[in-house]
Amino acid sequence: MPVAQWTIQDAIATECEFFAVNGYRGAQGRETVYTVLQGKVPVLVSAPHAVKHLRAGVVEPKEEDEYTGTLARLLHALTGCHAIYLASCDLDPNFYDDCAYKAGLRDLVARNGIELVLDLHGSAIWRTYDIDIGTCHGKALLGRPELAARLVECCKRHGINEVYVDHTFSGCGQPTVTRLVSRNLGVPALQLEINKRWRDPEKHPEQFRALVECLAAYIRDDANRVDTG
Ligand SMILES: [Zn+2]
Repeated sequence: MPVAQWTIQDAIATECEFFAVNGYRGAQGRETVYTVLQGKVPVLVSAPHAVKHLRAGVVEPKEEDEYTGTLARLLHALTGCHAIYLASCDLDPNFYDDCAYKAGLRDLVARNGIELVLDLHGSAIWRTYDIDIGTCHGKALLGRPELAARLVECCKRHGINEVYVDHTFSGCGQPTVTRLVSRNLGVPALQLEINKRWRDPEKHPEQFRALVECLAAYIRDDANRVDTG
């Protein structure tokens, strides 16, 4: 997808091609169940529920978080951030630490000097918030509360107003991506639970565009990376 000139139609086509295939189980017969897009900026966008995923002992997979994989691909193309997403149905990476996705994520973080991780998720349309930012009650920010405050401000600037921190999903009640990254890898992480009304470019193209522009602006803001000065 050409950088800086993406269209809503591109986003819809990307979701169909990479994620919605095989009833949202993603591509079959791949060598790895996840995809990494190598970036140049030390920020990583993760989408562990881009396709359906499994819990042990449950036959039917859990539903995908629609458009989170497409968001990861778009943000990579627009900002040069690194991206990782689940590309083929596998163990739930936001519920198990011992899974292929998290092995890939650990490797990616270690090799690329990642300084910030945004873990994208989807919430149902009936939730009262637009975005719930999970920070493990601040612990996942590793002493940098401004990372969440700046994201709230950035959302408001883009017309996304009902944005809260640790409202319903704090991101630490189970072995999440956010918990692993902040606690075990020593990198600040934010879990974004994004309401469906902002992840539906067919029905709400303007909201989807605002979300993409908001997250791209946040990733491009150097102040959100580690202050090494
Ligand atoms: Zn999710």
